[in-house]
Amino acid sequence: MNKPPKKKPDFRMTPQRAGILHFLEGNKSHPSAEDIYARLRRKFPGMSFATVYNTLQSLLALGGLTEIKIDGSRARFDPDCKPHSHLMCVSCGTIADLPAPKLHPARAPKGFKVLRCNVEFYGVCRRCAPGTAKKETSSCQKKKRR
Ligand code: ZN
Ligand code: MN
Repeated sequence: MNKPPKKKPDFRMTPQRAGILHFLEGNKSHPSAEDIYARLRRKFPGMSFATVYNTLQSLLALGGLTEIKIDGSRARFDPDCKPHSHLMCVSCGTIADLPAPKLHPARAPKGFKVLRCNVEFYGVCRRCAPGTAKKETSSCQKKKRR
């Protein structure tokens, strides 16, 4: 009996998909699917949101894209798949890169080997200035404000 061939993620290149890839290449803004759709809609009037969404899912499956969960309201995407951390402005939603901190938990269970850690910082960017982040303080206790 032959094993069925492993199904590779299907990624047929189309002009729209090429446009999405081009937009993501080297992009440091950590856009959401909505951001990408909004930016490319004019260039590709026939493109649907589903096309953007499905393309992102394919890229995630292929390992060429990372999904970031720092923004509780929507998934954000990062073409930089190397380990690094993020900080997010709770006022404007801007996400910036940080080097991955080398942390070790002080009270890890005995014998637990740390392979990686994921640290997220929340704050207010300089442009937004402290005191203007109204929505954040009440909604989530875990998010820290500087
Ligand atoms: Zn901001
Ligand atoms: Mn990043």
